[in-house]
Amino acid sequence: MRVVVVGAGLSGLMAARRIATQNHEVVVLDKGRSTGGRCATRRIGNAVVDHGAQFFTARSDEFATIAGEWMRAGVAMEWCRGFSDNDGHPRMCGAHGMTSITKYLAQGLDVRCSTMVFSIERASDGWGVRLDDGRELLTDVVVVTCPIPQTMSLLANTDLSIPDGIRTIDYDKTIAALVVVNGDTNVPQPGGVQNGDDTFSFIADNKQKGISPERALTFHCNPAFSEMHWWNDEATTHDLVMQLAAPWLGAATVTEHQPKRWRMATPKTTWRERCWSTQGIILAGDAFAGPRVEGAVLSGLAAADVVLAS
Ligand SMILES: Cc1cc2nc3c(=O)[nH]c(=O)nc-3n(C[C@H](O)[C@H](O)[C@H](O)COP(=O)(O)OP(=O)(O)OC[C@H]3O[C@@H](n4cnc5c(N)ncnc54)[C@H](O)[C@@H]3O)c2cc1C
Repeated sequence: MRVVVVGAGLSGLMAARRIATQNHEVVVLDKGRSTGGRCATRRIGNAVVDHGAQFFTARSDEFATIAGEWMRAGVAMEWCRGFSDNDGHPRMCGAHGMTSITKYLAQGLDVRCSTMVFSIERASDGWGVRLDDGRELLTDVVVVTCPIPQTMSLLANTDLSIPDGIRTIDYDKTIAALVVVNGDTNVPQPGGVQNGDDTFSFIADNKQKGISPERALTFHCNPAFSEMHWWNDEATTHDLVMQLAAPWLGAATVTEHQPKRWRMATPKTTWRERCWSTQGIILAGDAFAGPRVEGAVLSGLAAADVVLAS
């Protein structure tokens, strides 16, 4: 069977790996320059900064087993067991940033980055996946793992009837700042602060976390702040975020700072099942099995099971 997976984030890669074990012809397409999607790691000089997902937990035994495999492969590690206190539950992260995990998952797969899908339309025999350079890939099955608004636009020229509960899924926005510093900051051990004030939903010290040789902080503004300032001038908003970050930076000297914006950070609602499928089109991603790393992984695996059962 020919299978095209749209998206080389966790969901798409997990789906592709499972499908590929059964000797199907699987191609993964992603518009990004590298794998990972919302698991994103940026290098700023010598600093390594996670700017999407910061860490993950394992709520299900199924995902705990997978996380254990990643740890044994050396691509994930335990960061801590709580941020303000130790609740005993591991918070894990990529060993060299979150993209360590997706780079590992992509090994051995036909993953084509910098490849933007423009539309998905019916072909005489299956589906045609049209790329933005005009080329078309013909396939029997398409697994689409983009955030839902992007998925809907790819499928706009089909006659598929997608339930309202999926079509209308909207996402919280995240405005972020990535800040490289010299010296100690006011971010306490273990280097993560959840909802520490009225602006930031998460602050990470990537050095304390263990992924960066240089001290570099990630500031994620909470959904309310991000929504309120989303349409404002980006430079003005970034200046404001830097002012609001100052108490956390303490006496450290800022050597570099960059803005980052996630228009579709996390789904506000999720579909009741781990994926949705019809006629060779399977929709998956964190909008299905939960708005987090674990949900994306479990949704990708569920999508693979649907493909393999067809
Ligand atoms: C700021 C932020 C903080 C977060 N923090 C956490 C956290 O601490 N813990 C946690 O568990 N989760 C967190 N999350 C959520 C987590 O990152 C996501 O749930 C998970 O990464 C989603 O994976 P996915 O594969 O479903 O989607 P994605 O990672 O979004 O993958 C979809 C892929 O599709 C690609 N794509 C989209 N359109 C096209 C197209 N037209 N053509 C080709 N490719 C396309 C994209 O480039 C992307 O790579 C956070 C997310 C954000 C943004």
